[in-house]
Amino acid sequence: MRILVVEDEDAIARGLRFNFEREGYQVDLTANGPAALELYESAQPPVDLVILDLMLPQMSGYEICRSLRRLDLDIPILALTARTLSEDKIQAFDCGVDQYMTKPFSLPELLSRVRNLLDKRRRHLDRRSIRPTEDVVRFSDVLVDFGRFELKHRDEVHPLTTREQELLRYFLENDGVVLSRARLQSEVWKDSAEMSSRSIDNFVMRLRRMIENDPSSPRHLLSIRGTGYRFLREPAADHNTAEPQ
Ligand code: CA
Repeated sequence: MRILVVEDEDAIARGLRFNFEREGYQVDLTANGPAALELYESAQPPVDLVILDLMLPQMSGYEICRSLRRLDLDIPILALTARTLSEDKIQAFDCGVDQYMTKPFSLPELLSRVRNLLDKRRRHLDRRSIRPTEDVVRFSDVLVDFGRFELKHRDEVHPLTTREQELLRYFLENDGVVLSRARLQSEVWKDSAEMSSRSIDNFVMRLRRMIENDPSSPRHLLSIRGTGYRFLREPAADHNTAEPQ
């Protein structure tokens, strides 16, 4: 299991990493919100648990927690903070943290809470992966394995981030439908503030490189000028709806 630590005090961060690694977890350290969110979105394999300090430069732990919740409602988040007031705890729980521990903390208690959250996480992931037929989708010579966050095209295997996978799933569920950037932004990104239409285009370009034989002349993921995109699971042989890219 993979743990993301967001902590700006270096000594604490390194101590946490040492102890988590000794428990057999994979650990990433970040010292501020933007770095943490970027790592969270691109991590492969995905992050399973976030340890979150609340007093941080740039973004507060509360803001980070809200942003994480927009990305994933289920990711376990444990706040680890010097703030002991009841108001702070209430605000943290309102932002979506699962557990709250105050510094100085007892290491055995922290490890126990982490084990508990990760056990739940594992059961949650197990339940998701017992739907193998829905988790593997084929079209043309592409095979998407949603359980493994992997896409295979011909002989190449591409790892998928959570967001790439969600976007691709949304396209598959809306086969043939013209999808505006605004709709993608609200349905796939849940209108998260950090998302711009430019980055939607970047995600689409990445998917094209993975699924199209010729990404510059796509047959599955078509651009609809002025609007957005249209995914065709089975393009007709002589389908010529693709506009020049
Ligand atoms: Ca701090």
